[in-house]
Amino acid sequence: MPERLGPPLAEPLFERLAIIGLGLIGSSIARVARRRNLARVIVAGDASAEVRARVAELKLADVVASTPAEAARGADLVILCAPVGAMAEIGAGIAPALKPGAIVSDVGSVKSAVVAALAAHLPAGVHLVPGHPVAGTEQSGPDAGFATLFHNRWFIITPPEGAQAAPVDALVAFWRAAGSNVEIMTPAHHDLVLAITSHVPHLIAYNIVGTAADLEHVTQSEVIKFSAGGFRDFTRIAASDPTMWRDVFLNNKEAVLEMLGRFNEDLAALQRMIRWGDGQGLFELFTRTRAIRRSIIAQGQETDAPDFGRRPTGDGEKA
Ligand code: NAP
Repeated sequence: MPERLGPPLAEPLFERLAIIGLGLIGSSIARVARRRNLARVIVAGDASAEVRARVAELKLADVVASTPAEAARGADLVILCAPVGAMAEIGAGIAPALKPGAIVSDVGSVKSAVVAALAAHLPAGVHLVPGHPVAGTEQSGPDAGFATLFHNRWFIITPPEGAQAAPVDALVAFWRAAGSNVEIMTPAHHDLVLAITSHVPHLIAYNIVGTAADLEHVTQSEVIKFSAGGFRDFTRIAASDPTMWRDVFLNNKEAVLEMLGRFNEDLAALQRMIRWGDGQGLFELFTRTRAIRRSIIAQGQETDAPDFGRRPTGDGEKA
């Protein structure tokens, strides 16, 4: 998969970009904005003094502000990169500092709840254009970010009803320049799609790893020792940030419960196939699911290297 970003733009797209929350996603935005000259001045704000110090050390921003309001003051584009549950508080904090015509966006993994939380606070004359990068890793913090995180990944923009075209176009240009492919949809549709492609898979991973940890007749050391048989891939997802994922489930409750209902029905059907020895049914389902993975690879969203391209160890075995 190509990991190349284009050269820096001759003229930045924004004068002053404020990023609030400099974890995995926020610090990756800072890095790509710097690398591609997407903004003349990059301002960083984070609730954690430790993160602010690290951001300064890594020179991820031109200015490190101590409050969200200070970070957002005078910015043309403000991107909120904190957990979904913190959005309302940040929205309330930055509202008085926002300049007229500013664009306020975010990267939260849930959209309807974030739109409602922010719209309640933002003053007239400020444009709310929420979004979500369908890109990430299971790691957190400013050291975990990298400039190519969004390259060749989807960025979904979910404009609220009545949003003006110009600020939406400006955000599309920003994310395209960051290397993303951009799609526009309603917040409610986003939440339903992401419930099945991201939220429920994370819940399943948390659940299976939790179940294995609680088993009585299989020891934890056996679970760890023999993890390569599929379990290991769930543990990567289940290592994702607890705060972020708690907020996702609390804020996308209906769509997740709807998809979980479907999942439970299909699981019951699988259980029946195993109980009654329906090999044909199992084979047909597994053939269909294999085709889905092949189309994800064909669209460049995953590597076709065996075992997810894990690096070989010195003796040629997979790590
Ligand atoms: P992260 O690495 O944990 O970073 C979040 C940062 O926001 C932390 O430094 C945190 O500080 C800070 N923060 C928390 N509350 C704040 C507040 N009230 N004001 C200012 N800063 C605050 O998280 P992340 O993975 O980058 O995720 C950030 C957002 O991106 C979330 O909304 C998530 O849903 C979304 N997202 C994540 C992924 C992913 O794969 N990780 C993918 C797409 C979208 P503390 O350390 O003090 O808490």
